[in-house]
Amino acid sequence: MKKTMTMKMAKVSKRWLRGVSFALALIIMVSGGMILNSASTDAKAKTKYVALTFDDGPSTVTTKTALKALKKYDAHATFFVVGNRVASGKKYIKKAIEQGCEIASHSWDHTNLAKLSLAQVNKHFEKTAKAVKKAADYDVKLLRPPYGAVSTTMKKKFEHPMILWDVDTLDWKYRNTPSIMKYIKKEVNDGSIILMHDIHKTSVDSLNTVLKWLKKHHYEVVTVSELAAIKGVELDKGVYCNIK
Ligand SMILES: [Zn+2]
Repeated sequence: MKKTMTMKMAKVSKRWLRGVSFALALIIMVSGGMILNSASTDAKAKTKYVALTFDDGPSTVTTKTALKALKKYDAHATFFVVGNRVASGKKYIKKAIEQGCEIASHSWDHTNLAKLSLAQVNKHFEKTAKAVKKAADYDVKLLRPPYGAVSTTMKKKFEHPMILWDVDTLDWKYRNTPSIMKYIKKEVNDGSIILMHDIHKTSVDSLNTVLKWLKKHHYEVVTVSELAAIKGVELDKGVYCNIK
């Protein structure tokens, strides 16, 4: 009698144990899934986008260093090229396009376009666009006016998007990595446009630090046109300092 009771109890507790382990396994599976799910949602929510832009090139000396750093970090930039430098820097323009970068116009010879007539501004844009087309069979769509100078006429009547910036690294002025980083850390935001110049050795040399920091802070570095597409903004005529 005593023996049968003990056997019964053992059977019950075995069944109970099985039940508990099944329930535990279920809890672990469900909560594990929830953790994974929330981790991927977090990663998505954390990703921010920034457009890195370079003016005044291409340079036959320094642009290659910029391209190397961009490639290393799987980053895309927009190069606003000066038309009269396109033929000599053809090799770097082609390489930039191959890497997924964007080529845009920075006038033919770095003139202050705000002082010109609309016809003259158009001529600057078209002449540079033609040079890029000839060098790399690529269609230029955007203008960055030298000095960020835009006239009222350009604002009203120029047919292409004019891209300015909201993060000025002042890389041409201070010429060192800590200073460039100071402005980026202070001013960068989701949808920002960063201004740099690929004609200075100090600027292209800073890129490993710049790109490493942006990556660490969940910024994906894209071209201006990619940023617009990601943000669902159709780039029209007018001035853009960022794309939110
Ligand atoms: Zn410039």
